[in-house]
Amino acid sequence: MIVIKFLHVGIDDTDSPDGMCTTYLACSIINQLKEQGIAIYDYPRLIRLNPFARFKTRGNGGISFKINLHDIDKQKLKIAKEIILKNVEKLSQMDCENTNPGVVFYEGKITDKMKNYALKAIYSIISIKEAEDFANKTNIEIHKFKKGRGIIGAIASISCPLEDFTYELLTYRIKANYGKKRAIDNTSVHEMNKKTYPETFENVDGSYIAIEPRTPCPILYGIRGESPEVLKIAKNLVKSNEPIESFCIFKTNQHTDMHLQKIAKIADMAKYGCYIVSGHIKNAPHVIEGGHMFFTLADDSGEIEAAAYEPTKDFRKIIEKLVESDQVQLFGGIGCSGTFNIEKIRILSLKRKQHFENPVCVCGKRMTSAGHNKGFKCKKCGNKLSNTQKIAIEEERNLEKNKFYETPVSARRHLAKPLVRMKNIN
Ligand code: ATP
Repeated sequence: MIVIKFLHVGIDDTDSPDGMCTTYLACSIINQLKEQGIAIYDYPRLIRLNPFARFKTRGNGGISFKINLHDIDKQKLKIAKEIILKNVEKLSQMDCENTNPGVVFYEGKITDKMKNYALKAIYSIISIKEAEDFANKTNIEIHKFKKGRGIIGAIASISCPLEDFTYELLTYRIKANYGKKRAIDNTSVHEMNKKTYPETFENVDGSYIAIEPRTPCPILYGIRGESPEVLKIAKNLVKSNEPIESFCIFKTNQHTDMHLQKIAKIADMAKYGCYIVSGHIKNAPHVIEGGHMFFTLADDSGEIEAAAYEPTKDFRKIIEKLVESDQVQLFGGIGCSGTFNIEKIRILSLKRKQHFENPVCVCGKRMTSAGHNKGFKCKKCGNKLSNTQKIAIEEERNLEKNKFYETPVSARRHLAKPLVRMKNIN
């Protein structure tokens, strides 16, 4: 068996809220490598890491790609590394205090220790020192620019195992249009969605066009889907009234729920972690100013405040229906405030909800109390019922046992698996 030897390249932390995007930088590097006769192997990867990492610009994504070392000689390898480093140095938003690029090169097999490092970068928080020590122990060549925080995500991106994965096709604008309103034909996006969903997903949310970023970055739009083939079809269906400079397809862990750890108890959860956790509703949901909705989830190990924030819109109408003692399974993560941010919910069991009413008289009028322990009387016909109790009325819960409910596309995390991708549910 021939074992292919690769140069793995990881890049992270090149952009700022004012511009650039590490995917664009990678796309531009890949095109320049191609011009030198250096092709990359498979698709480049966009790996989303811990959504609660403090210094993220937006979606905490690291980029990686690999080059087949059998295809290039030592001279070409040197040229490849030079192109990568020069571009990161030249195009990164170095003026921004929080932009601290990192590039890593690694030749060899991705080991279990590397895979575990990647999972740690998705599940928890890693320091620059920890990443650097790990690189030194693992023979990963690191290049730090400024503080070099990007090495944390760059190592994770080359190391991340991808059992479940999706693809994203990103189109880029010409520089002259950066920062200007995007000229995407919304009708064509709805048309594309109609023709390609659910092979593509997260395209629209009602009239909201979800493929369009709201930041001044180089991206015109991004379409997410199950295969590169469907993404190319979808791209041809989307019309835009501005030119596309280039496009690139990334293989990614987006929409796989890879960030969620299955844990047994509430007490085992920690801040900045994402989990699947079950429990009962201890305090029924209530809304605070701003429209954020909270309730307390409890199990025999402890309790935690859970939230459906205002941007989750109609999802709150589902949460609102929960009552004390309902059993639920929550999917989501714990942010800096210690509150569990719900991404989706599964109803495990519903408490019977009843209210009590006075009986209705034979004449059709609802009866009133005849006094303490004296039964009921009818004000219309004078009828009396002395040995009758109030009648229990079963209330519709309007929630379905075992059913999953999810936040809307516009409020969904990159890593959250949409129900349309979940097989064998409900
Ligand atoms: P964009 O999505 O626009 O490309 P971003 O949201 O990915 O930007 P970056 O500018 O890449 O944000 O910054 C994220 C920073 O957080 C990087 O330096 C990355 O190395 C670091 N990082 C990633 N995961 C972790 C983690 N688990 N713990 C600590 N730092 C992390």
